[in-house]
Amino acid sequence: MSLYRDEGVVLRTQKLGEADRIVTILAKRTGKIRAVAKGVRRTTSRFGARLEPFTHVDLQLHTGRTLDVVTQAETIRPYGEALAADYPRYTAGSAMLETADRLTHGEKEPALRQFLLLVGGLRTLADRGHEARLVLDAYFLRSLAVAGYAPALDACAKCQAPAIRAFAIVAGGVVCGACKPACAAVPASETIGLMSALLRGDWATADASEPRHRSECSGLVAAYLQWHLEHGIRSLRHVEREPA
Ligand SMILES: [Zn+2]
Repeated sequence: MSLYRDEGVVLRTQKLGEADRIVTILAKRTGKIRAVAKGVRRTTSRFGARLEPFTHVDLQLHTGRTLDVVTQAETIRPYGEALAADYPRYTAGSAMLETADRLTHGEKEPALRQFLLLVGGLRTLADRGHEARLVLDAYFLRSLAVAGYAPALDACAKCQAPAIRAFAIVAGGVVCGACKPACAAVPASETIGLMSALLRGDWATADASEPRHRSECSGLVAAYLQWHLEHGIRSLRHVEREPA
């Protein structure tokens, strides 16, 4: 039996038999892992709450024939505790976990940048320095960019003309008047500026944005993400904006 160590974030869990769980983890070096945590549902489990969703854990596993088995788990940071008491932050975090799961396809295919984005997103959410939905939208835009779906925001996605007229999901971002399809949204220029700031990590600009531009940005980002994921992010339905 071969042992290995890695650190990762627990994305989701599912019951297995009477006392066990299958834990899906996005790990730093290994990529996505599905592993069995034995006895984890017993009150006397040595793992405690360390293998719950949102927890950043240091793990030791042994390689199994079908599923690996968790043999040790130490908490690095329990983001679930920080988010559980705050509904907008909790739902934003849930949408991040689901998106990370959906944007990393194969098991054990290294996805270091997705891992770092997820840990950074959860930390920013838990630290409460920025509105939850802004943090989520920044995470969506950056994880899509890492997956190869960065929206064009500076020039027409089709012809590279600098004069922007609309945002067209099917075209891959902003478009000029000549390339604008009938279904394109026509957002405020400040909304495109906000999307660009979130993609760059320019929090000074993002935090200074107006609520109407944040709402418009969230709508476009959600539609863009769902179009790319084909089936939509289930937990996004529960995300609400914090009262201004
Ligand atoms: Zn064009």
